[in-house]
Amino acid sequence: MYIGHYAAAAVLVTLVPASPVTPIAIGVAWPDLVWPVLVLMGRERVTVGRSDPLQRSIRFDSYPFSHSLVLGNLFTLVPAAIVALLYDSILLGLLFWVAAISHWILDLVVHMHDLPILGFGGNDRKLGFGLWQYPKTAFATEYIFFAIVVLLTAQPTAYVGVLGGGLFLHFLNANSFFGFSRHNPFSTPTRLALITFVGYIGAIAWFTLAWQ
Ligand SMILES: [Zn+2]
Repeated sequence: MYIGHYAAAAVLVTLVPASPVTPIAIGVAWPDLVWPVLVLMGRERVTVGRSDPLQRSIRFDSYPFSHSLVLGNLFTLVPAAIVALLYDSILLGLLFWVAAISHWILDLVVHMHDLPILGFGGNDRKLGFGLWQYPKTAFATEYIFFAIVVLLTAQPTAYVGVLGGGLFLHFLNANSFFGFSRHNPFSTPTRLALITFVGYIGAIAWFTLAWQ
């Protein structure tokens, strides 16, 4: 999931309107910011099928540090504490942590039964409701969910920037739902990691600017 994570950001910045937007925009993306770094370091593993660009064909073989419910979110206490110190606000640190936890919960809806619960290895249970199995439905559902939450939370003056920018970013990701190209253009773990990282830097900048 990509743009859908910003529905959670919209809810959190609405619940605590005094909070700055950037740390929350980073928080909802946090697991997907850590994941590319760990893939590039060889600490987490992914297999990308070259012949199939669809999201469901990406196999997340191992990503316990970035994408497990327990271990991943324990690690996230570190950046959450840094946010709390930087902004001198325990509440903001807590919001960052909740934002990162929301990432796992929303990923759960779309991922293919590969999200670890504990993250400590062994016979860990993995979850994922697999909406990506139905790529076109997943594409529509993610944006509709995002748009409904934004309409319920954002100021009307921000609608164009948030909904329009979100739609633009969502369409940048459309090939992994519709399979326009015969091959996956990001067919190595390195390429997928880099495009994921860049994609989220773009999303953080967009949400921070558009929400104001
Ligand atoms: Zn993720």
